[in-house]
Amino acid sequence: MKDLRDMWEIGGLIEDQNKDKVADRVNIWCDLNGEIYPEGFIDFCARLGFETASLSFDFLQKNNRYSNQLSFVKDDEDTSVEWKRNHLLVHYQNEEEVSTLLRFLAGSWHRNFITGDTPVQKIKLNENKIIIELQDGGIQVAPVEPLNTAVSEKTYEVGSLTEIWNELGFMHDEKASPTNNHNVIFLTEDSLEHHSWIEIYYGAARIGMESTTLRFPITGINLSNALKFYFKSDESKNANIQLDGNVIQFTGESKSLTNAISYFFRERYWSFGGHFGCWERQFKKSDNQDESLFQVTWEDEGERQELYNKIAEWNSSMKDKKDLDLNIFISESSVIRKDIKKDIVNTFPQARVSVRSAFKPGYFWLTEEVLPNLLEIRKQIGSVIINCLKEERGDGLELPIRWIQELYPVDEVMAQELQIDSSFIDFKLCETLDLDATYEVIVKDLHGHPLYKDHIVIPVSKVPYVEEGKYSYPVTACLSVYEGEKQIFQHFFLTDRERFYTFYKEHILSKLWEKADRSSENSGFLRPLFDRIEINVEMSEEELKLPVKEERISSLEALHEDIYFNTLDYFLIKGEQTVGKGYTAPGGIYPIIRVKEGVKPKAEITAYKWLDTTREPVLTEQLLFTNEQRTPAEVKYRVGKEQGLVKEEVSGHVHLEEIPEDLPRPMKAKFHTWIADYSYRHKPIYVYEIFANTKESYYSAIKLTANKPTVLIETGHHANEVSSMPAVAELMDEITEQYSSILKNVNLVIIPRANPDGTELHNRMIADNPEWKHHAARYNAVGLEYSDVRYKDTIFGEGNVVPKIMNRWAPDVVIDNHGVPSHEWTQPFAGYHIPPRFHMSYWIPNSMIYGIARMLNEKRYPGHAVVLDRITHGIQQKVKQSSNIQDMNHYWRERYKKYGNQFMPKLFPIELMEELIFYKWTTETDASSTSAISKFPEWVSADLISEAADETVYGNALEICKEGQKRFNLGAIEWINNDLQEVHRNYDAEGIRVERSRPLKAAVDSN
Ligand SMILES: [Zn+2]
Repeated sequence: MKDLRDMWEIGGLIEDQNKDKVADRVNIWCDLNGEIYPEGFIDFCARLGFETASLSFDFLQKNNRYSNQLSFVKDDEDTSVEWKRNHLLVHYQNEEEVSTLLRFLAGSWHRNFITGDTPVQKIKLNENKIIIELQDGGIQVAPVEPLNTAVSEKTYEVGSLTEIWNELGFMHDEKASPTNNHNVIFLTEDSLEHHSWIEIYYGAARIGMESTTLRFPITGINLSNALKFYFKSDESKNANIQLDGNVIQFTGESKSLTNAISYFFRERYWSFGGHFGCWERQFKKSDNQDESLFQVTWEDEGERQELYNKIAEWNSSMKDKKDLDLNIFISESSVIRKDIKKDIVNTFPQARVSVRSAFKPGYFWLTEEVLPNLLEIRKQIGSVIINCLKEERGDGLELPIRWIQELYPVDEVMAQELQIDSSFIDFKLCETLDLDATYEVIVKDLHGHPLYKDHIVIPVSKVPYVEEGKYSYPVTACLSVYEGEKQIFQHFFLTDRERFYTFYKEHILSKLWEKADRSSENSGFLRPLFDRIEINVEMSEEELKLPVKEERISSLEALHEDIYFNTLDYFLIKGEQTVGKGYTAPGGIYPIIRVKEGVKPKAEITAYKWLDTTREPVLTEQLLFTNEQRTPAEVKYRVGKEQGLVKEEVSGHVHLEEIPEDLPRPMKAKFHTWIADYSYRHKPIYVYEIFANTKESYYSAIKLTANKPTVLIETGHHANEVSSMPAVAELMDEITEQYSSILKNVNLVIIPRANPDGTELHNRMIADNPEWKHHAARYNAVGLEYSDVRYKDTIFGEGNVVPKIMNRWAPDVVIDNHGVPSHEWTQPFAGYHIPPRFHMSYWIPNSMIYGIARMLNEKRYPGHAVVLDRITHGIQQKVKQSSNIQDMNHYWRERYKKYGNQFMPKLFPIELMEELIFYKWTTETDASSTSAISKFPEWVSADLISEAADETVYGNALEICKEGQKRFNLGAIEWINNDLQEVHRNYDAEGIRVERSRPLKAAVDSN
C-alpha cells in the first residue's frame, strides 16, 4: 500500500528523470477502457500536467515507461481511490460521483492536506464529504468542494486562436512575468467519442503544465470570466474551431472533431518547427524595398597632383638655388612617399627632400627618421623622453594629450627594434612656452648624459566639426622649402581625406538632411529618416599592420569611423537645433571604403529613401477540419481590416528553415531551436534553449523557470563585436561535456546571433577591410540601436527577441555579450579622439575582457547587491584561472594608464573588482526602461554586459576573446545553486500555485 499523500510528489505520479529536482514527466499510465470518460478526469490530467515541467502524450495508453497504472473499477458501493503497489485504483459508482472525487484530488489534494504524519491509504467520497482513511485506522473528513472554487479575477480577451498557443507558451499575458496564471474551464458533452476524450485529457495536461497558477476545478462549473473550451459533437461533416470572445468552440462530427481537438492540443507553434499558426508566418516578415533618394559622384585631382602642380609652378624659380630643403607632409603610404621623393629628387637633384606622413606624423618621424639613428647607439641608451606639445586650442575637440595619442604605440615598436623595455621610453606633456616644436626627442645614456636630440613641427589645418563652433585640427599636407635656414616658400594643401570629408560634410550631409523624411518628427523618433546612405570611397592611403598586438595604422579606417559617427552626430545636433530633440538613429550609414595605393580619390554616394512598412497583427478566427487530415483544411484570419482565407497552403507541414551554415551552433550540446522573430531584412533570428535533458515531447519554459533559475545570454547584439557568437556555441558544448552540473542548476536561453542584418553588413565591410573595427555595422540594417525599440512590437524584429524571451522565460540573469575595439580608434575629424558623445575613452582598449553591471539601489535591493557581489567575484575567479587573459588584461591596463589614465583619469577611468575592470552603472527602476533589471526589478536578479577587445579579430586574438567571453559567462552562471532557491507551492483561493523566490539566493562564498 502506497501513501496517497505522495500522489503529486516526485516519486509519486510524477518523476524526475534527470535528477535535477524538477519533475520532468508523469509517472502513470491510465487505462481508459471505454466504459467511462469522467469529466473530472480532465481536472486530474490538468493537475498531472501542472506538477511537471515536461511531458509526452503517451500516458493514456498502456506504457512501460511509467511505473504506475490508473484503472477505473466499477463498484456498486464505493467511490474511492487507493494506491496498491503501483496500481492507482479508482472505484466508481457512477460518472458524476467519480468526477467529484477526481476534482477533489486534482484541485485540493497535496502532501500536507492533512495534519500529522500518518500515511493515507484511501480517499473516499461519501455524500458531501471526503473521507480520508489513514493507515493507522484514523479518519479525517474534508468538504468535497475543492478549495479553489470559482475565485479568480483573471479575465481573457482573446483576439486570435494563435494567442492561445504561441511561442510564449499558453496564453501568456502581454506583460512579462515569471507567472502564468490561468482560469480555464472545459465544457463537454456526453456524445463525444473515445478519441475526442483522449485528446481533451491530453490538452488539459498540457495546459496544466504551462500554468504556474491554475484555478480548480476546471470542469463541472461555468464562470463567465474564464477561458472556456467548449466541445460539442454535432452532425456537420467538417469540424470547426471557432473563437467567440473568451470561448473556443470545437464542433463537428466525431472523426473530424477529433482531428480538430488533436491538432489544437498537440501541434507546436510554427516557430518551434510545428504547424500551429504557420499560415501567419508570412506576415511576420516585413516587406521592404529600395528607392533611391539621391546619387552623387565625386572626384578630385588629389593631394599628390596638387603637390606636383605647386612644385612645377615653382620649379623655374628654385632650380638655380643651392642648399635647398624640401619638407613635405602628405597623407600617403611609405611606398608612395618614396615614389614622390624619387620624383622630386629627379627635379631637384641637389636638394634634400623629406616626404613625411600627414597621418600620425610623429609616429613615422620617430620610426623612419629617429630610430635608424638610435639603432647605432642602441647599447648606450638609458632613456628616451619624447616631449609632446600640449594641445590647447579652445575651440578644438582634441584632447590635451592629442600629440601623445598620435604617437601610439610607438614606444613598443621602438623598444622592439632597440631591444629595450618599452618602459625606457616615456612621454612628457609640455606647455607651448617650454617646447618650440610639436615633438622633441631626447635620448640619454645610462648615466643621464645626452646622446641624441631632435625635434619636428607638424602642420595642421582647421576643419569645422558637425557641431557649429567646434573644430578639429587634423594634420594636413604641406610643402615647405628652405634655403639654408631660411624658409623661402610654404604651401598648405588638403590631404585626400580632408578633400573628401569636407565635400561630404558640406554637400552630402545637408542634402541628406533636406531630402530625408522628417515628417514623423513628433512621433517618438522610432523610425529612421532615411533607409541608408552608402558611401563608396576609393583612396590611396597608408594601411599598415604593426608588430604590436592588433595594432595598425590605417587612415582610411579612421575616415570610415569619422564618416559614420560624425554623420550620426550631425543628425543628433541638427535635430536638437530644429525640433528640440536629437535624431539618434537617422538611418543606416554604410561607409564602404577601398584602400587603393596610387589612385586619385573618388567616391560614389547613394542615399535610399525610408519607406514606411507595417506589420499588421494577424488574427486567426476559425480553423476548419475534415475527417481526412489532422491539419486544418481551411483557416479564416484577419490582417488589419482584410479578411483572409487560406486553403491549400495549410495542408503543408512547415519545418524550421535550415539553420544557416554560418550561424554558430554547438556540435555536441542538445538544445531546442526557436525562430524568435525576423530581422528587418527578413532574416530569421534564432534562439537556442538548453536545459537538463528530459526526452519528452513538450516542455514549458515558464514551468521550468518556476522551478529553476534561468540565464539569458545575448550574443552579437552589435554585429562588429565578433567574439561572443562563436564563444557561446563552444560554451554550450563545454557545459554539456565539462560543466554538466550547470544544467542541474539553471536553464539557459541563448541568442546565438542577435543581429543578422548587422552581421550581413559587417560581412560586406570585412570583405574589403577584414581587420577594421567597422562600428558602422554595429546597429541594424537601418542604423537603429534596436534595443531602443524593445517592448514596442516593431517591424524591427531584432528588437522583439529579448522581450519575447523575457515573457517566455522570465530569466533571472541577463547577460549581454559585447565588444570594444581591438586597436586604436581614432577620428582625425573629431579631434583625433573618439566622437564627443562618449563620456569615457574607448580610444585604446583598457582590458582584453571587462564587465559592466547595472546596479540597483543597494539599500532598496539588498538581495540584488548580494547576487552582484557573488557574480563579479565569480567572473573574476574564472578570468584569473586563465593566465593568458590575466596577462592580457594587465598589459592593456598598463597601456591605458601610460597613454591616458595618468594624464586624464576621469576620461580614462579604471574601476577594479579585484583584478578585473568592472564598471557598475547605477540604475533606477523604471517600468518603461528597455533594460531588464530596471524594468523588472522584482524578478530579474542581475543584468550584465561583457566587453572583449574583438573589433574585428581573427585567429589567436579571436580565440582569446572567445575564451574571455566564455569565462565571463561561466563566472556569471556557475555559482548559481538550485538547492538554495526556494520554490513555494500554494493552495488557496487563487488556485494551485508554484513560484520561486526572487532574487536568486546566493551562498556565502567560502573563498
Ligand atoms: Zn556593443
